Amino acid sequence: MSVGERGFCTSAVHAGCDPEPSTGAIVAPIYMTSTYVQEYPTLHKGYDYTRAGNPNFSNLEKQLCAIQGCEHCTVMTSGLSCVTAIVSYVRDREGVIVSYGALYGGTHRLLQRIFCTQEANVNVLMNADDTSKLKQLCDEENVSKRPKLFIFESPTNPLLECVSIDEIINIIRKSKAKDCLILFDNTFATPYHQRNLNKDIDFIIHSSTKYISGHSDTVGGCVLTNNAEYKKQMDFYRMAMGLNPSPFDCWLLNRSLKTLPLRLERQSYNAAKIAEYLEAHKLVSKVMYPGLKSHATNNVASAQMKNGFGAMVSVVFNLDLTKSMEMISSFKVFTLAESLGAVESLVDHPASMTHASIPKERRDEMGLADGLIRFSIGIEDVEDLIADLEATLRKFM
Ligand SMILES: *Cc1c(COP(=O)(O)O)cnc(C)c1O
Repeated sequence: MSVGERGFCTSAVHAGCDPEPSTGAIVAPIYMTSTYVQEYPTLHKGYDYTRAGNPNFSNLEKQLCAIQGCEHCTVMTSGLSCVTAIVSYVRDREGVIVSYGALYGGTHRLLQRIFCTQEANVNVLMNADDTSKLKQLCDEENVSKRPKLFIFESPTNPLLECVSIDEIINIIRKSKAKDCLILFDNTFATPYHQRNLNKDIDFIIHSSTKYISGHSDTVGGCVLTNNAEYKKQMDFYRMAMGLNPSPFDCWLLNRSLKTLPLRLERQSYNAAKIAEYLEAHKLVSKVMYPGLKSHATNNVASAQMKNGFGAMVSVVFNLDLTKSMEMISSFKVFTLAESLGAVESLVDHPASMTHASIPKERRDEMGLADGLIRFSIGIEDVEDLIADLEATLRKFM
């Protein structure tokens, strides 16, 4: 089935989900094999070694292409392995890597500590906080100082700021750095809320660990592209660097994706209700949810996101560090854990968990207040989630 021919839900259920022809099994088996029989040296049925390829990888790749609206996909072992493959490919060209706004912490650490260290002296990491800084970096006179790779996300973590994808890409493609590779991380929005994205994006990545899995039971990632040469390169980097996932994880993800639209329909519905509830609560000083009129980038989100605004809600409570830590340990339905995107609702405290390594002063500058709590909303009954919030918040009034 080619991209865009059918609706999203039909693609999710059928693309890459063909029955197994020799037995008629409606669900493809898990090809737990490391190698493949060859009739004659190099004469095989398309697979020779699972680090290089496996039928479960191929099935998942077809399904991801159909729902994201891209021509090609390479599945990898995690979201960060996708960044590793792309930056390794770009490293051949050496140069400046530019991020826009906030990057996922693990991505930032990977660039800062592995690919852009002073000792390695290969790449330089720079951040553009706004479009004028971006223009300035892209129009750098010195060719070697212009960006070679541009990385961004929308909505961002954990403040859920939305960036206009088209505006950013326009700036880059009209600048002196127009040939730079563009990487967009679509993990938070998922293909359900953001698909058929700007064709000038070279690589779209997802941490499949999050919504694509949706069940907190696998770690995975994928790189999507419309460029056949980039697909070839991603397959090569996966094989050469050992970034392959396991056949079992791909089989699980293949199964999970069939219900992605149903899960997200419910999750984003619940999230919107919870955002509204919390916005009216006395213990709350600010709610960040792209769908709220009060959200700083609500206009960008409304123009760019479809079918709702995702299922992440970040909230600043009028609580200090200790009280915030106590509060998030007291919920009965929300579970205290890192990660996001699954059917069960999770709660995270950036100041003491995901962003604890950043000094307090810098955290305050970045808007990561001590009372900031990030909720990943699941598919439970929203009444139960709100009752849990109500009962827990009351104890801290
Ligand atoms: C989790 C996450 C990653 C990293 O993915 P892993 O699967 O944990 O390696 C990258 N980007 C975003 C936005 C994420 O949320």
